Amino acid sequence: MKKYSLAFLPTPLHKLNNLSNQTGYDIYIKRDDQTGLATGGNKTRKLEFLIQEALSNGFDTVITAGAQQSNHCRQTAAAAAQAGLECHLWLNGIEPEVYQGNLLLSHLLGAHLHFSGEKAKGREAALLDLQKELNKSGRKTYMIPVGGSNLTGALGYISAMAELKQQLQELNWQPDYIFFATSSGGTQAGMHIGQVLYQVPGKLMPVLIDKEKDFDQPLEAKILEIVRDYNQQAAQPVKISIEEIEIIKDYNKAEYGELTRNEKTAIEILAKNEGILVDPVYTGRAFYGMWDMLQTGQIPKGSKVLFWHTGGVPALFAYAEGLKNNK
Ligand SMILES: *Cc1c(COP(=O)(O)O)cnc(C)c1O
Repeated sequence: MKKYSLAFLPTPLHKLNNLSNQTGYDIYIKRDDQTGLATGGNKTRKLEFLIQEALSNGFDTVITAGAQQSNHCRQTAAAAAQAGLECHLWLNGIEPEVYQGNLLLSHLLGAHLHFSGEKAKGREAALLDLQKELNKSGRKTYMIPVGGSNLTGALGYISAMAELKQQLQELNWQPDYIFFATSSGGTQAGMHIGQVLYQVPGKLMPVLIDKEKDFDQPLEAKILEIVRDYNQQAAQPVKISIEEIEIIKDYNKAEYGELTRNEKTAIEILAKNEGILVDPVYTGRAFYGMWDMLQTGQIPKGSKVLFWHTGGVPALFAYAEGLKNNK
């Protein structure tokens, strides 16, 4: 499928030399924090296909939703600015006095911000109402799902797997494990499909960021739905069973977005040993999960391990207080 170019690709893939030396594992990192779109992240790859779909079908406005620190909303705002589309964001909670992190960037990128207020429930209905209202005023409004996680968005990670395959061949290196943060599932769905299509080595190790109570349907089911949608239009269907969609659910004891010692540990380890920043919500939590599984020997010593950095760094600035104190 055609895409609207937003990302600087391929993103770098490189070794974490210091952490590899210290741990006895061979650790590489794939830098999707470097996709380039207004500080980058995994949503950029999805938006290349989503924005193309909006443009091809004559839409002039996009809406999406998320948390106030949503990286997806910030990248959607940037993508819309680049593509000449009006952007509306439906954000959870009450408007804060001071804008920080991603919220500040979404504002600077020209998005129209709508705050849900106290009631976080009923988001789907509120979004449809907003779409209706915009259309009544003459806009043609394209709805991007939360996290950009439908088949169109997942196409970004199907192609990312082709990109990875090529880089692995050039490096002559094959991961045994591929760790990353999973949340709305589009990234993971694309990786599963792409892994089958392009025969990419390595067991996918998605670390769940959210609490399961926050989902309307199990994430495994949502991912399978995207696979089913893919197969419905594919010349070559892929076979992926629910058993293959294993999600690591040991590192989501805290609420979504809650900064704990785990995320701080991950942020410190990467920052102080490798000069790389991860975020408090997604990549910090996922990297901690990987780190813990290495430290506790759940991953055999000497294994080749890839951490896929999915971005999120602007959120650091919304956690200034929590990150300053060393507890
Ligand atoms: C959205 C996001 C994820 C999760 O990707 P999904 O496709 O929603 O599962 C991971 N990391 C960061 C930084 C994100 O913004």
